[in-house]
Amino acid sequence: MLRVVVLGAAAGGGVPQWNCGCAVCRKARGEHPELQSTQASIAVSADGAHWFLVNASPDLRQQLIATPQLHPRAGRLRHSPIAGVILTNGEIDAVAGLLSMREGSPFTIYAHAKVLAILKANSIFNVLGENNVRRQPIEVDRPFELRLPDGSESGIEILPFTVPGKRAWYLEGKAHPGGGDGTGDTLGLRIEDRTTGKYCYFLAACAEVTDALKARLSGAPLVFFDGTVWRDDEMISAGLGAKTGQSMGHIAMSGDQGAIASLAGLDIDRKIFLHINNSNPALLRGSKERSIAEGAGWQIPADGTEIVL
Ligand SMILES: [Zn+2]
Repeated sequence: MLRVVVLGAAAGGGVPQWNCGCAVCRKARGEHPELQSTQASIAVSADGAHWFLVNASPDLRQQLIATPQLHPRAGRLRHSPIAGVILTNGEIDAVAGLLSMREGSPFTIYAHAKVLAILKANSIFNVLGENNVRRQPIEVDRPFELRLPDGSESGIEILPFTVPGKRAWYLEGKAHPGGGDGTGDTLGLRIEDRTTGKYCYFLAACAEVTDALKARLSGAPLVFFDGTVWRDDEMISAGLGAKTGQSMGHIAMSGDQGAIASLAGLDIDRKIFLHINNSNPALLRGSKERSIAEGAGWQIPADGTEIVL
């Protein structure tokens, strides 16, 4: 069985964001605490005992406290069920949580060479000593099996693939420590239980749904997909910032070229939005946008949602 726990569903900043007074953030602080959401990450396991994180968000500590599956096993003085972390990009909301995993437990970081170069260029990540925390490069279109700390097989195979996207925003206009073009800066993942053949896709950032991506996702049992903004210009029109979704490498939920329209009719069993920005009105239950998304078969998950395939 492939188990997936949504540790967090929000985009960078979370809900509420520390410095934001938008309608969603105000409600999340006040009469609607159920709107609160931590920054996007999932945990996956094939055996229920060993878990792998997809991205390590700045909210990781809070997410681990809230997730019993990820607590140290009873009777062990030092232990973590987390055997590894797969990074899909080098954004702060994908890597900052690594710094909360610095107390000496062994695990493996799986990431594209571009993202590993970012970690290497930032010496603060040296707190994760390479004798305990292996850094394993992964390659686009090359499947690999996740390993447990003792080297044995986890039963989970990952296929990383390139997704239209952007480099981390703090690297915009700067030399990338990993050099080269944009390849490897944004990955999607196909995550498969090798015993059962069940699988899901994880795309927390995606700037465009190409025909090739449609073909890939067609017929999937479960897809987690970029739900950052409802409308491309919503942050500008709400007065929250100058960036469009596209300029941040994120497709909108709505519109002819949006995620809802693009992924319609692909025979995907379960579609879940992740990485949802606090400006997105689809977060609000009862909103017109929420009912359009749900009416099209999409789910906006609460943190802690567990799915078993
Ligand atoms: Zn807000």
